[in-house]
Amino acid sequence: MRLDTKHMRYLAAEDWRVLTAVETGSKNHEVVPTPLIGQISGLKGGVHRSISALAKVGLIARQKNAKYDGYRLTYGGLDYLALNTYRKRKDVYSVGNQIGVGKESDIFVVADEKGVQRVLKIHRLGRISFRTVKANRDYLRHRSSGSWMYMSRLAAMKEYAFMTALRDNGFPVPEPLAQSRHTIVMSLIDAFPMRQISSVPDPAGLYAELMTMILRLAQYGLIHGDFNEFNILIKEEKNKEAKEGEEAMTLTPILIDFPQMVSIDHTNAEYYFDRDVNCIKRFFERRFRYTSNSKGPHFAEAKKLVGKDGVTRLDVAVEASGFSRKMAKELEAYMKEVGVDGDGDPDAARGDEESSDEESDEEDRSEVDENDGEAEVESEEAPQHQASTLEVSENR
Ligand code: ADP
Ligand code: MG
Repeated sequence: MRLDTKHMRYLAAEDWRVLTAVETGSKNHEVVPTPLIGQISGLKGGVHRSISALAKVGLIARQKNAKYDGYRLTYGGLDYLALNTYRKRKDVYSVGNQIGVGKESDIFVVADEKGVQRVLKIHRLGRISFRTVKANRDYLRHRSSGSWMYMSRLAAMKEYAFMTALRDNGFPVPEPLAQSRHTIVMSLIDAFPMRQISSVPDPAGLYAELMTMILRLAQYGLIHGDFNEFNILIKEEKNKEAKEGEEAMTLTPILIDFPQMVSIDHTNAEYYFDRDVNCIKRFFERRFRYTSNSKGPHFAEAKKLVGKDGVTRLDVAVEASGFSRKMAKELEAYMKEVGVDGDGDPDAARGDEESSDEESDEEDRSEVDENDGEAEVESEEAPQHQASTLEVSENR
């Protein structure tokens, strides 16, 4: 889904208030009744002008339900609210190119006021899954209304919490910079996913480093759950100490993408652990023609490492940090339900909520690799628009 920020500058203060009111109302209403929007926004002069302005640019959508007419927030509207928060906090000043379209996320390069580039990841859990979920109305009814909004927010919160914990404990992950609603902002890693790398000088060395990382995660109580060539970025750095004849470049793997991370005490921990290990094994065999002599690492061995050297268990720490066990369970149940698990059918229910309802959007959807269920965007397919600043009209 594109992120078109051009309407931001035309929204007036009261439009933002109305948009925020629709968001607030969505917490308890699938369709927010118009009078409630008026009440929450507290706008004496009426909300109709703002409502039509917002609906016109697709930030809210009119919807009839059995009993009344009202509005619901669209993904576009939620994107704007998150961007406006970042703009106010000076986390994001401009939005540039889209660099990734995953099944459940969109990735953009953004910049702060000084022009330092960052990455904005927008979680879009309902997008692929909405049709599947729709097929099971009962399930939706048991969730809070605006399920996609809530679940995408949980995914962003979870990712931010784990990235923070990992970063604080010296893991090679991007620096988490900010979180709002269904989005996070992190540092930009100047590197390509391992998937795009055709050869490396020392496959054995890189392989060992990745297995060490899987075991180190286990030591901290964690399993990544989607440890594969898409979620490992390979950073090339000049090796300053290299002597003549030695490799002048070092390759550093950086780990990304944490919404499916699980505790090593999870019921299916062994399954996830083995899958992570085997993804790497398979990729190294196919891509680099490298097969390790040793069979492992095995789950039993990983279990023994938990808490070794007195390290903090990050599964426990994250739970305490605000991403509660209840939230983790809700997110996991939803992801499972809709096949967001790395091994779900990648083509299942592709498309998004908006397009199935009202507007058809002409987003680029690229082919999906059958092996891992992640989609990639070729760089030339990415929209090549210039960075646009998040200008807004005065009195914000
Ligand atoms: P998804 O959940 O959709 O798989 P990811 O977090 O794996 O999302 O990101 C998708 C792609 O976006 C990655 O494969 C990578 O190419 C790019 N990407 C994500 N985060 C960063 C980052 N911090 N720096 C550079 N590229 C990134
Ligand atoms: Mg990924």
